[in-house]
Amino acid sequence: MQARGLRLGAGRFVAGETLDEFVPIARGLNARGFALAAAILGEGVSERAQTRGVVAELRALQSRIAAEGLRANVALKLTHLGLAIDESLAAENLRELVEHAESLGAFVRIDMEESQYVDATLRIYCGLRADGKSNLGVVLQAYLYRTSSDLAELLPHEPNLRLVKGAYLEPPSLAYPKKADVDAQYKALIERALAGAGFTAIATHDEDAIRHAIAVATHRRFEFQMLYGVRPALQARLVAEGYPVRIAAPFGRSWFPYLMRRLAERPANVAFVLRSLLKG
Ligand SMILES: Cc1cc2nc3c(=O)[nH]c(=O)nc-3n(C[C@H](O)[C@H](O)[C@H](O)COP(=O)(O)OP(=O)(O)OC[C@H]3O[C@@H](n4cnc5c(N)ncnc54)[C@H](O)[C@@H]3O)c2cc1C
Repeated sequence: MQARGLRLGAGRFVAGETLDEFVPIARGLNARGFALAAAILGEGVSERAQTRGVVAELRALQSRIAAEGLRANVALKLTHLGLAIDESLAAENLRELVEHAESLGAFVRIDMEESQYVDATLRIYCGLRADGKSNLGVVLQAYLYRTSSDLAELLPHEPNLRLVKGAYLEPPSLAYPKKADVDAQYKALIERALAGAGFTAIATHDEDAIRHAIAVATHRRFEFQMLYGVRPALQARLVAEGYPVRIAAPFGRSWFPYLMRRLAERPANVAFVLRSLLKG
C-alpha cells in the first residue's frame, strides 16, 4: 500500500524509499548546483531498541554520502532518536551521530518538531555545543512566541541556525494563529540572525522573505533551503543568480506524516496527489 502510494504522488516530495534509490537523485541535484540536507523519514519512535536501528541507518547514510562524495549533510528528528521516550537516550544517540559526522568532516542538522519538544531539543543542542562540538545546527520556528527570546539566547554562541515558519498544528496560546503575523515574525528573525555572527539557513519557499533576506544581508554567511519538490523553478532561479541553495530531500518508507504536512501547507498539493492517483 505504501509503495503504491509513493508511486502515485508522494514521489514528488520524497526522494526514494531506499538509500540506493536516494543516491542517484542526490547526485542529480548536486549536478544541478544544489547542496542537500538528506533525511531518513520517520519520527516518534516509541521503543528504545528501535532507536538503535535508526542510528545504524543514519550512520550508513553519513558514510555513503562521504563515500559517494555527495555535497550533502544529514538532517534528523530527535523523536526518531528516542526523544519521546527519554531525553538522555536521544542525546546519546545524537552524540554518536555528531561524532561520526565529525570523523567524516560532516555536519548534522537537528530539525525542530512540535512545541512540547523545543526545550529538550535546545538543551541537547546547547549541551553538545558546550562540549565543543561545532558541526551541528538547530532550527527555530517563527510561529512560536518564544522564538524571539530563544534566538536572543542562542545568538551569542554563533549558532548555525535554520529559520522556518513552522509546520505543526500549535495552539494560539503558543503560536501566532495568523499567517500575516508569522510572516512578519519570520522576516524579523531573518534580520536578527543575519546581523549575528553565526550561519543562517533561510528555509522557506516564500519569495518575499527570500528577497528580504537578500536585501538585508551584508555578508555571505547564509544559504537558502527548500524542500524537495516544492517550487523547483524558484530553487533553480536562485542557483542561477549565484545563491547557495540546499534542498531538504527525505527518503524512506515512513513517508506518510511528512506527506500530510506538505499537503496541509498547500491544498493544491492534495489535488496533485489525487490526480496522480487517478492517472495511476
Ligand atoms: C528546508 C526546510 C526545512 C524545514 N524544516 C522544518 C523543521 O525543522 N521544523 C518545522 O516545523 N518546519 C520545517 N519546515 C517547514 C516550514 O516550517 C514550513 O511549514 C514550510 O516551509 C512552508 O512555509 P514557507 O516558509 O515555505 O512559506 P509559506 O508562506 O507557507 O509558502 C510560501 C509559498 O511557497 C509555496 N509552498 C509552500 N509550501 C508548499 C508546499 N508544501 N507545496 C507546494 N508549495 C508550497 C506556496 O506557493 C506558497 O505560496 C522546513 C522547511 C524547509 C523549506
